[in-house]
Amino acid sequence: MIESEQSGAEGTEVWDRAQRDWLQAQGLPRVALRTGRTTFMHYAYYKDELAGINEYHLDRNGRLCTGWVPFADTEWSRSFDKVAGYAAWEVRVAPPRLTLAPSILCRICGNHGYIEDGRWRAA
Ligand SMILES: [Zn+2]
Repeated sequence: MIESEQSGAEGTEVWDRAQRDWLQAQGLPRVALRTGRTTFMHYAYYKDELAGINEYHLDRNGRLCTGWVPFADTEWSRSFDKVAGYAAWEVRVAPPRLTLAPSILCRICGNHGYIEDGRWRAA
């Protein structure tokens, strides 16, 4: 069953209810936005400031995989700036047409792509 079918910014991908129910059973939060066929995100806030996204995708075995993508120049991020290996993403365009740089590479499964115009684009 198709609940929404629009083009454009985040959260407007066709959203199949059976797939959504299955994904939520795997741990996808109800508030997650769909950014592509098998990619999702939801915004995370720290002290009322948008601090990053939790990014979700299906790995090669069809299992839900997730990662934290903190935004640079936020209070949350500044508290980790001196931690070795810490990385934060530049927000080039604010939501709802969120565009981040650089690309996002999953350390768990190797999924690699970009968030551009609120959508996922595979690298
Ligand atoms: Zn992954």
